[in-house]
Amino acid sequence: MSKEIQNIAQNENFKAVYVGPWAEIAQFVTEDVKGKVFLKEALGTSGSELSVGALPAHTTLPFFHAHKQNEELYIVLHGSGKMQVDEDVFELREGSVVRVSPKGSRSLRSGADGLVYLCLQTKEGSLEEWTGKDAVFTQTSAKW
Ligand code: ZN
Repeated sequence: MSKEIQNIAQNENFKAVYVGPWAEIAQFVTEDVKGKVFLKEALGTSGSELSVGALPAHTTLPFFHAHKQNEELYIVLHGSGKMQVDEDVFELREGSVVRVSPKGSRSLRSGADGLVYLCLQTKEGSLEEWTGKDAVFTQTSAKW
């Protein structure tokens, strides 16, 4: 049985969910993909798709894929492995962050300790302002 995303809290300006400990991500099955949690629907995102993926030890994704218009950031949370983009292969470990252009043909392979990673998908070239330019300080007072 597949695990479920748990809703934690929300209002008109946020939604929080819990997907469980990273070690249990492999138990999710979403969109027929085992070990993958897609969060766009659960969070209601409008400019990005975030997924959490888990590959058990010594597992290779059974496909290569590219995108039509979205770039992806792969952020390794736990474990190790290798990534191939086009003809290049390189090592991944906890803390590795990789950006792949839409047309890059990519796949992953986990090492002996498995691989847990985030994949953030956004439209290439869509970010016009960020951090210092886009952030505005508000007058909200803390309630914790
Ligand atoms: Zn992708």
